Formats: sequence, C-alpha cells, structure tokens
Amino acid sequence: MREVRIDKLTGDKAIYVSMRSKRPLDKIKEPDDESLNSDYSSWCPFCAGNEHMVEEETHRVQKDGKWTSRAVMNKFPAVNYESDDIFGRHEVIIETYRHNGNFFDMSEQEFRDMFSVYRNRYNELINEDGINYAVIYKNFQRASGASLNHPHSQIVSLNMVPPEVEKEVNSLTDYYEKNKKNLHQEIIDQEIKNKSRIIYDGEHFIAFIPDATRYNEEIRIFAKYKILIDDFKGDILEELVFVFKSLFKRVYEKDGYLPFNVTLHTPPKGMEDEFRLHFHIIPRRFNFGGFELSSNLFVCSSDPEQTVDKLRFNKNRKDD
Ligand SMILES: [Zn+2]
Ligand SMILES: [Zn+2]
Repeated sequence: MREVRIDKLTGDKAIYVSMRSKRPLDKIKEPDDESLNSDYSSWCPFCAGNEHMVEEETHRVQKDGKWTSRAVMNKFPAVNYESDDIFGRHEVIIETYRHNGNFFDMSEQEFRDMFSVYRNRYNELINEDGINYAVIYKNFQRASGASLNHPHSQIVSLNMVPPEVEKEVNSLTDYYEKNKKNLHQEIIDQEIKNKSRIIYDGEHFIAFIPDATRYNEEIRIFAKYKILIDDFKGDILEELVFVFKSLFKRVYEKDGYLPFNVTLHTPPKGMEDEFRLHFHIIPRRFNFGGFELSSNLFVCSSDPEQTVDKLRFNKNRKDD
C-alpha cells in the first residue's frame, strides 16, 4: 500500500509504503578504526592535550582543573561577521574530552556537561547584536556529514530565522488562523492520547515517532510546555539527560552503531509562548537519491508503531 502523508509540524509531504515482507535490518557494526580504541588520539584537534590545534576556546565545564566539555570557534565557519547579508557565529561544542565517546556510551554526567555548554553558548550567541536565531545540531559519523570522529555538536547563530524553522513557524501560524489552537500543543496532546507512537512520556518531555515525517524512523523529543534552553538545569536537565541516555541505549540495541543527525529547534524570538522547543533525531541508515532531490518527496518504508515498540523505555530509572 502507498499513501501520501503530510507532516503537520513542517508541511513536508512523504510517500509511505507499507512493505509486504518486513525483513529486519542488520545492526550496524562499529567501524574498524584504531583511533576509537582509546580516549586519546594524537592527531585529533578535539582531544584533551591537543588544545593548541584548535581555535580559541569560548567556554568550558571543568572538574579538578581539567575540562570535561567545552566550546571553541569553528576553524571553517559557515558564517562569520564579515558580511552584512548573512552573518553570525559558528562554534564547535566538544561534548566530552573522550575521543572514543559517543551518544551510545556517554555517562549521565557527560550529557549533563554537554547540555550545560549548549545553554551557555546559546545564551551568549542569541544575545549578540542583529542575531535572530541559533541552531544547535550534531552529525554523527561520516554518513551524517561529520568530518571528525571525536564527539561534537555545533552551534550557528544567524541574523535570520533559517528556512527549516520558518516552515514550522508557518505551519504553526496557519493552524492558529484556521483553528484558533496551538499546533505544537495539539501534536503533543494527540500523541499522548493516542499512545501508540510514544517512546517516552515524562513530566517535562515526550519522545515519539511522528505518523508522518520524510525521514525514516525520525524521533522527536518535545518539551510538553514552555521550556527554553535557559531552563536546562535542575529537574528539567535531569530528565533531558535521562531521555537522551535511555533513548540512545535503545537505538543502539535496535540498530547498532547508527549514523544520525540531531537538531534542536528553539522558539524564534517573540514566539516563546507558542513554539515548543524540540529535538529531531534523524537516523541516516539510508542516503537520499535522485528521486528525493528531484521531487522533494521522500519515501518512508518503516511503520512508526513497530519502530516505537523497540525503542520504548520506562520513566522509572531502576526499570531501565
Ligand atoms: Zn579526539
Ligand atoms: Zn523542528
């Protein structure tokens, strides 16, 4: 069976194909890369001990005089302050000092430190003159666009709201005009009521697989109410750390060493009350091809409900 589905959040269209025979996909093995046997690599610019190999540091979290997570200027920035047309700042967030760390094996403390660097860098960059938005994202493995193995995220501030976020804002405002209701809150409430696509339902966040997305097995983590990056502390931070740690453990059990992207969408300025902060986690098991590029139609062959069954985790930490 084939049908077109529309992603309510973005307005994207996707072709959903239900496969007759569902063959389980093989797990992806760790790459045979010697540098991943150790938490230090002599040529890696992001490793502790190689600080001289990178640009200026902008922030660090440290313990016993040593940094555990830090941010540095990007050596090859997508934007800088040299143009009036498009400008902003591009930094790299080194999630952990451990060269061979990754989201599948990072400790709660490592996630905590990483989110604390996210908060610090976002707050500083978003408040610079003329800046309207800042995206935080992560590429994991070469298939997702990463050029270095060492675990890192990136933040880019911009004088404009990027088109991908603008699409979501347009969906939100169109929906409000037609229905006088908040689309993001409706999506959250419907997923909770429906239950079948929920991976996790907590006090501050939910994780689910949307019924329509152009990316196979995309996972979305939504703040259930108004939460901003500045709120990534205390209880909220603890739950976020728990969600990431538990979710990526499940992803690893299901898929192995899966390449993926993470993007964090925060409310654009002035939309803090209606736009719910959320993460997109996009597996990159398959690449896009000519059909997707020529039509902007993506084909999804996985069943959200079935995928959810393998990823679901419990609120109670002791059960995990
Ligand atoms: Zn390294
Ligand atoms: Zn989004």
